[in-house]
Amino acid sequence: MPPAESEELPHISPRHLRLADEMCRRRLAREVHSGKRNVNRTGDMRFAVSNRIEADARLAQAENGPPRPEAFVEPHDLEPEQQALYRAAKRGYLDAFGVVAARVADLGFRSALPGLGVELSSNLGIAAELDDGGRELRKVLVGARRDTKLLDPVDVRVALVRTEEWAPVQLEIVAVDVIEQRRSTHSPDLEADRAEAHEWIATRVERVLELAADARPQVGRDCQGCAFISGCAKHPG
Ligand code: SF4
Repeated sequence: MPPAESEELPHISPRHLRLADEMCRRRLAREVHSGKRNVNRTGDMRFAVSNRIEADARLAQAENGPPRPEAFVEPHDLEPEQQALYRAAKRGYLDAFGVVAARVADLGFRSALPGLGVELSSNLGIAAELDDGGRELRKVLVGARRDTKLLDPVDVRVALVRTEEWAPVQLEIVAVDVIEQRRSTHSPDLEADRAEAHEWIATRVERVLELAADARPQVGRDCQGCAFISGCAKHPG
């Protein structure tokens, strides 16, 4: 069962933890407090494909065993170039994980952190429970830039905190660019790394809430794609 999702708590994403100091305060405040779901919302072509690949990969291992290739269904509703990207991504995914027997668990998109009074929102990737009892978190990237690290330290910290119940004693985080065929694997020291992650996130959450309390609009890069442009004093009419 996915964790219960409450509507009341402010919700904070890895992007807020990473960039809150540089963000427009009004947009930050609205994202944190409005209850709008910002995780996974993007019109970017690669993300549309990556969302579809992840969804199909979950279905492909809903039961124990290696992923069923037939669960990856050509997305005819997407554009032709997205369909081509999907086919390449499917091949890359099966190359990376096609022989690994596992069952995929649903960890949901949010975890409440009652001690901090917030929820952490993130796409953790694919949570695979291996046949030998191992826990593997698969982060799937579809054609990331070559200079982009496959595993970002903020995402790793969020993953460590959000998987605490699911992976109490062992966790491997595997990031794969299924187009570029790059792979990065991280086996954290759960006790030490989780303690550090909790501490870092607590400090950042405090800062995010402090910044969000001052909801002044600030024109800049954030205006592009801002879901709160309506009613913004910086964009009258
Ligand atoms: S439109 Fe721009 S200034 Fe207004 S809230 Fe959004 S990001 Fe801030």
